[in-house]
Amino acid sequence: MKLTNNSKLQDPMFLEHLQNLHVFCKELLELPEDPYVMLEDSAENAAALLGKTAYYDPSEKQIVVFVTNRHPKDILRSFSHEMVHHSQNCCGQFDEALMNEYGDNVQKNEQLRELEREAYLKGSMNFRDYEDGVKQNMSEEIKEEVVEETEKLDEEEEQLKEEDSSEETLNETTIVNPGTRLMEGKFQNRDTKLFNRLLQKYTKV
Ligand SMILES: [Zn+2]
Repeated sequence: MKLTNNSKLQDPMFLEHLQNLHVFCKELLELPEDPYVMLEDSAENAAALLGKTAYYDPSEKQIVVFVTNRHPKDILRSFSHEMVHHSQNCCGQFDEALMNEYGDNVQKNEQLRELEREAYLKGSMNFRDYEDGVKQNMSEEIKEEVVEETEKLDEEEEQLKEEDSSEETLNETTIVNPGTRLMEGKFQNRDTKLFNRLLQKYTKV
């Protein structure tokens, strides 16, 4: 993606999603070439109720997205919409006569309205599919983590049991009250342990 980020939005996680969504849409829409993508801050658009959120410039093959005060998901959805306009342009649907005659005024032209309808429909669907894919991968990743952590816990508990039985002959307190170990949380509830570890892992970011 030919990205120029002129905005203050530098969150690496967001930029990674933008990159991934670009690849995802490119494949779905079978784009022959990448668009130029600009991220811009615009206080004016952010303040206006019906301010511009994004647009596509067919002659420059450029997507411009305004990002100020917008939810990242909303920005990505806009981007997905403009990617459809880019694909329409690559197919020659924005011919010059059409653009010159009507410009931005969608209401006047049924052909442009149709392009807009398609962009709304496909743009939203593509973004939705992208989101679902991310969630799916996320849960697969978590499933793997659970298996991995469970195995680690098994090993650790096995280790502790061995240590305990070898200590038993030496340590009086364990002989008197073997339950203390449990109270100390050494053999804490398995689910609680697993949950805490996963929580730690996923809140690190
Ligand atoms: Zn549009």
